[in-house]
Amino acid sequence: MSGPARIQLLSPRLANQIAAGEVVERPASVAKELLENSLDAGARRIDIEVEQGGVKLLRVRDDGSGIAADDLPLALARHATSKIRDLDDLERVTSLGFRGEALASVGSVARLTLTSRTAEAAQAWQVETEGRDMEARVQPAAHPVGTSVEVRDLFFNTPARRKFLRAEKTEFDHLQEVVKRLALARFDVAFHLRHNGRGALALHEAGDDAARARRVAAVCGAAFLEQALPVEVERGGLRLWGWVGLPTFSRSQADLQYFYVNGRMVRDKLVAHAVRQAYRDVLFNGRHPTFVLFLEVDPAVVDVNVHPTKHEVRFRDGRMVHDFLYGTLHRALGEVRPEDQLAAPL
Ligand code: ADP
Ligand code: MG
Repeated sequence: MSGPARIQLLSPRLANQIAAGEVVERPASVAKELLENSLDAGARRIDIEVEQGGVKLLRVRDDGSGIAADDLPLALARHATSKIRDLDDLERVTSLGFRGEALASVGSVARLTLTSRTAEAAQAWQVETEGRDMEARVQPAAHPVGTSVEVRDLFFNTPARRKFLRAEKTEFDHLQEVVKRLALARFDVAFHLRHNGRGALALHEAGDDAARARRVAAVCGAAFLEQALPVEVERGGLRLWGWVGLPTFSRSQADLQYFYVNGRMVRDKLVAHAVRQAYRDVLFNGRHPTFVLFLEVDPAVVDVNVHPTKHEVRFRDGRMVHDFLYGTLHRALGEVRPEDQLAAPL
């Protein structure tokens, strides 16, 4: 009788590839991680270059704080982060990332090059992975202050994962959706997205109301903004602002719905219910409302870290938030002229 199989430590590469299985599903998930890193680094402008839906190439370049040369290999290591140090930090984390896993995971399933320069450094430095187990070698490079992460040939070494990728256009649509969500969360940051050498989104820093409206039009389409009601209400420590589409601008899919709580995009049951109720009397069955809404509340009364990937939030007083949302939207939609309400859906 043979004994039990002996226990062995996984190689770092295999451990990273297993972790990648959880967070790196497609180019859009890589884009989300890279963009969040750029925002965490204080970037004011982010350029995203994509080839073949992001499978061949995804390059995110920012003008953020950069990474010190000595830290570059660590940035690619698992469980290495500059964002938290101890349990106290974890409990009041404000950055988008903190697990220290994204770059290690992506680097294990793609060819990743990280180039960065800090304001103090005389020049830029670069490290690369090829999905292999090896000490990353730091080399001099040319780059302004900030960081570029270049991800090539996603899943080149994990063919089973590669098989799940969809058509180029589908992958790009998912990736573009990630950019749109973050662009609506951060009007103060410029986003430029290019696909196969062509401009797909050019969003300049939006400092005032008019510029914010322009960004919403660029992200959601000019037709949305033309057929949306502006909302801005503040009551009992809650503030809701943004745009709700007229009932005539409903959609057959729930694909134009952006709701942010304190700058984080959420997809929350309580929120969805309040919105649905508000539209109940003015929307045809099977149609979905359109909206871009920002709820601002005291951070102490909301927990946004319940499920970082599921986009859920927990309000201390859910009933009050629900009634506030429902009441505000119901009133806004009630002001729509009856002939607008009765028009046939598109
Ligand atoms: P996390 O974001 O959870 O810390 P990541 O693997 O995404 O983990 O990144 C590891 C570290 O690399 C970050 O903590 C940060 O210090 C650094 N880093 C990654 N991307 C950037 C960037 N665009 N600008 C500056 N630093 C970055
Ligand atoms: Mg990160």
